[in-house]
Amino acid sequence: MTQIDWKNLPFGYFKTDYNVRSYYRNGHWGELEVSSSELITMHMAATCLHYGQEAFEGLKAFRGKDGKIRIFRMDENWKRMNNSARGILMEEVPWELFHDAVLKAVELNEKYVPPFGEGAALYIRPLLIGTGPQVGVKPAEEYLFMVFVGPVGPYFKEGFSPVKMEIVRDYHRAAPRGTGHIKVGGNYAASLVPAHRAHQDGYASVLFLDSAEEKYIDEAGPANFFAIKGNTYITPASSSILPSITNKSLQTIAEDEGMEVDVRPILVEELTDFDEVGACGTAAVISPISTIIDRDTTHGYHFCKDGKVGPVSEMLYTKLRAIQEGEAPDKFGWITFVE
Ligand SMILES: *Cc1c(COP(=O)(O)O)cnc(C)c1O
Repeated sequence: MTQIDWKNLPFGYFKTDYNVRSYYRNGHWGELEVSSSELITMHMAATCLHYGQEAFEGLKAFRGKDGKIRIFRMDENWKRMNNSARGILMEEVPWELFHDAVLKAVELNEKYVPPFGEGAALYIRPLLIGTGPQVGVKPAEEYLFMVFVGPVGPYFKEGFSPVKMEIVRDYHRAAPRGTGHIKVGGNYAASLVPAHRAHQDGYASVLFLDSAEEKYIDEAGPANFFAIKGNTYITPASSSILPSITNKSLQTIAEDEGMEVDVRPILVEELTDFDEVGACGTAAVISPISTIIDRDTTHGYHFCKDGKVGPVSEMLYTKLRAIQEGEAPDKFGWITFVE
């Protein structure tokens, strides 16, 4: 294998040696199969191709200074994947199968787990899709659950770099009582056009508002939104955002540090009152936000004065990374070791 340049890895697809798969057929999940092919063969009438029966997850494994590999909160990803499955009538994946698949995929690709100290990690992508054929709109009778992995670099090469975001009202990501709260491809399809436009205009991402009233901050593109005001961590309460495991973990750490946590609807105008704002998710942990521009009013909200990341965001980020990399004790029971 040619040497991997860990420091310059992008956040993208990286071919590794193996992936694992299990098929649901005739009412039960089959044995876990190991594959070295990047391809899947499926029926042209598979429901994932026509009616969006597709859910995915994203989690990471880290190598500690002790050489051990730690997987972060995989039970939460399992619960969320099955919540997504129930939301679009797919077959749920038993814990044993999910656990074995994730561990096997990491073990088989051990040499791709980046060394400690490079800022990189092994990204784990579980995927659940309807593979059985239907032409009428109905759930499939067959499913494929698979897990592939690949090393990914630090989201920001120079460490934390604050990003600019754009509030949009001419596009909605998800409707209340729609599928915004589950991790399905359809939500991403709905976000591609405004996200592409935002990138072209120099923004890292779009800030979507609640689609019923367009008054409250909902989702920060593919990540959750949070704000810091004094000693309080504030994050939106909404039925159309995806419950981020990173967000949940940051809330736990904030409380543990003696902060208040306030989960409630956040009005756009409140942006003027916040000390720090950011987006959070597995890919970057925290993306501090320096500027938010309202596309309609062109009004700008500015943070990270002097180009510096806020101290609370910095503290939360550091504490979370320390647990993930084994530099701090796993006091909340978030780590699964790969033996
Ligand atoms: C996956 C995802 C997140 C982040 O969730 P994590 O569990 O923290 O990675 C946030 N928003 C959306 C829309 C997502 O799909």
